[in-house]
Amino acid sequence: MRKISIFGATGSIGQNTIDLINRNPEAYDIVALTGGANIERLAQDARRLNAGIAVTAHEDKLDDLRAALDGSGVEVAAGATALIEAAARKSDWVMSAIVGAAGLPPGLEALKQGATLALANKETLVCAGSLVMQTAQNHNARLLPVDSEHSAVFQALVGEDMATVERIVITASGGAFRDWPIADLAGATVEQASSHPNWNMGQRITIDSASMFNKALEVIETKEFFGVSPDQIEVVVHPESIVHALVGFDDGAVMAHMGAPDMRHAIGYALHWPDRRHLPVDRLNLAKLGQLRFIEPDETRYPALSLARQVMERGGLAGAVFNAAKERALDHFIARHIGFLAMADMVAAVLDRFDAENGLIDAPMTLDNIQQTDHLARKWVDEAVTQRAG
Ligand code: NAD
Ligand code: MG
Repeated sequence: MRKISIFGATGSIGQNTIDLINRNPEAYDIVALTGGANIERLAQDARRLNAGIAVTAHEDKLDDLRAALDGSGVEVAAGATALIEAAARKSDWVMSAIVGAAGLPPGLEALKQGATLALANKETLVCAGSLVMQTAQNHNARLLPVDSEHSAVFQALVGEDMATVERIVITASGGAFRDWPIADLAGATVEQASSHPNWNMGQRITIDSASMFNKALEVIETKEFFGVSPDQIEVVVHPESIVHALVGFDDGAVMAHMGAPDMRHAIGYALHWPDRRHLPVDRLNLAKLGQLRFIEPDETRYPALSLARQVMERGGLAGAVFNAAKERALDHFIARHIGFLAMADMVAAVLDRFDAENGLIDAPMTLDNIQQTDHLARKWVDEAVTQRAG
């Protein structure tokens, strides 16, 4: 039986992973499942899958979790350190599906144990690209992409020589506001930003799709995962979300990956890799679709994309600053403290302030330095929000 752990099991990616596992439960031995505040769902899945341990990120929920799993034989724990301890338990395959920079420490720990890390948590590579790749190499661990675009690129590269890759094109749906007049974006509400035309995902990544911060993170993720240079990465808006990514080779050939927009494809590919197995996703009917559209992204509409270019040029801990500032600005948008467009303004201002005031951005890439940078970036966003309000 394969030993499997799922970090962020109660979320959108986590539940899709469990859906696949539930179709063949006898093949898997579930070492650890983790979640946040949704104790009922975490306990239910831990019980059903007979997990070794269930961990909630919230220390004040430990008693609830213990009560919910009473008599099940499933161990319980809570808090950030418990998450890392759970990641230290030997697993063959670990799904990294916590949202945000909080996914980095358990992911790094799983790599140190030599596990195969299925990476939905894009923040891991954005914040700590070279540290993560080096850790994987040192411990003979493997990273598999789960973000749909990166899984698509990974599949288009099977059997190919990276030296012949000219460019990588990742597609973007354009999110909730693709067709809105730019003048209306300032007034966009949390509810409007939280509905996605094609994908059914967690709220945070859905809002990041509307602002294209999600694509900005993915451009950086592409650079780190595939080791290409920033000028080899392109983004194209593709409203139908059928082509997930394309790889262009130096003989002019382009390999495109297509499929229905269903994350169970990318999750299942990573779960069964290097094999392909039957997956319960819709089959494409191109004639029924009729047409696929591709549009150049407008960077005045999506300033996050130019910020991603700036981050890649800047290097060092700029990715950690960018991600933390984005996460905190998103918290403030969701709490209705700031408007939709203020998110990009604040991230840009924090990046500039790091350049001007703080040498930390050029410090060596250690988990400690990343976390210090992350903390300061969030604090500066809070200060900017308070200033605006004042
Ligand atoms: P989600 O919000 O639905 O679920 C997040 C999970 O992380 C939950 O289990 C939650 O309890 C847990 N969590 C949240 N904060 C935590 C913290 N501080 N510490 C520990 N656990 C915490 O998110 P999602 O949409 O499933 O996305 C998960 C990750 O996968 C994100 O990095 C996202 O960018 C990426 N991703 C998601 C999709 C998708 O279709 N949902 C697609 C591609 C990539
Ligand atoms: Mg994606």
